[in-house]
Amino acid sequence: MSTTPEADARDLFARLTGAEPEGVWSSPGRANLIGEHTDYNDGFVLPFAIEHRTHAALGLRGDGRIRVASTFDDAVAEVALADLDRLFPDRRGDVPEWATYPLGVAWALLRTTGLAPAAVTGVDLAIASDVPVGAGLSSSAAIEGAVASALNETWDLGLDRVELAQAGRRAENEAVGAPTGIMDQMASMLGQPDAAIFLDCRTLDANVVDLGFARAGLELVVIDTRVKHSHATGGYGERRAACELGARTLGVPALRDLSLDDLPRAEQLLDETTFRRVRHVVTENQRVLDTVRTLREDGPRAIGELLVASHASMRDDFEISVPELDTAVEAALAAGAIGARMTGGGFGGAAIALVARADVARVTDAAAAAFQAAGFRTPHVFTVTPSAGARRDG
Ligand code: ADP
Ligand code: MG
Repeated sequence: MSTTPEADARDLFARLTGAEPEGVWSSPGRANLIGEHTDYNDGFVLPFAIEHRTHAALGLRGDGRIRVASTFDDAVAEVALADLDRLFPDRRGDVPEWATYPLGVAWALLRTTGLAPAAVTGVDLAIASDVPVGAGLSSSAAIEGAVASALNETWDLGLDRVELAQAGRRAENEAVGAPTGIMDQMASMLGQPDAAIFLDCRTLDANVVDLGFARAGLELVVIDTRVKHSHATGGYGERRAACELGARTLGVPALRDLSLDDLPRAEQLLDETTFRRVRHVVTENQRVLDTVRTLREDGPRAIGELLVASHASMRDDFEISVPELDTAVEAALAAGAIGARMTGGGFGGAAIALVARADVARVTDAAAAAFQAAGFRTPHVFTVTPSAGARRDG
């Protein structure tokens, strides 16, 4: 029977080692309020940490090895810390794919600090989570953040939260081999209750922005379409390539360096498809800035139109939506949501809807009914609450 993920991590640790862990660390998943596919274009994002978390129970071992286990998978992986450099990146296939996340974090931390494997202690890690996997809520950043926090303290590395986020990203990019940006790890490390992280992905300048959902009586509803997204398949890479082509053609380091005023010139220089990809990123960056300003000046009830415009841009210009996501957004809006959009990388995953507390049941029912009418799988609909970032739990 499942209890809490912290208790599950402790149980798994006890089964693995027969002992108590030294400590338990956790880090949350995240939802992105607005700013999609802007992170790897050096742009702006506005994610928040959610209350769903991944916990890592850690114990010491004296033989210089690292062993990882997770309730996610029966296979346990074990390797000498000195062999991590042989494992990544070329021989990552020697361990189960999920294990490349925690082992990759250990590898990235050693690489980043320049510490010799012999200078740190071996560890056992037992991992459990209630972050839905592959739903666009970044279970990957949650596992990276939990493991990075645990190892940072255990190995006395003294890295700050931004450095831990960077190590998580490095693990995901180089060890796992998924070409993702820094947003997820920053949200997971820096989250605060009822607040979002306004992040400049170029400078890594992060500002906490009050969301005020609780005060305004608002809930953030997630509609998980249960359509699997995957970074391994082509769509994500193609979008990144189109953005790089756009920036190169326009002579800027990244699409972040373009503003709305540059769009007419972009339209002249780029092929039609690349132009629409560029237009999404440029307008989305502006929408993030507008959302931050609107939250500060007018409060969360005023951001609905920006969320809706973001969805339209992803559907029509960036073309990363799928019929299930469009249906979720349309059903939520028709049932009274203040705003709604797909979130995450696209091609599946989840939509989010900003909803007055009194309308949550109506939006939930409307989404389920619309999916049934369209012949889609029943969606998972639940609320997420903006919550605290990575921490030690015990
Ligand atoms: P997401 O949108 O959830 O981040 P990703 O494809 O980026 O989706 O990452 C999901 C992968 O991360 C899983 O397939 C698994 O390999 C790994 N992962 C996430 N959470 C856990 C966990 N609790 N235990 C083991 N592996 C995990
Ligand atoms: Mg991920």
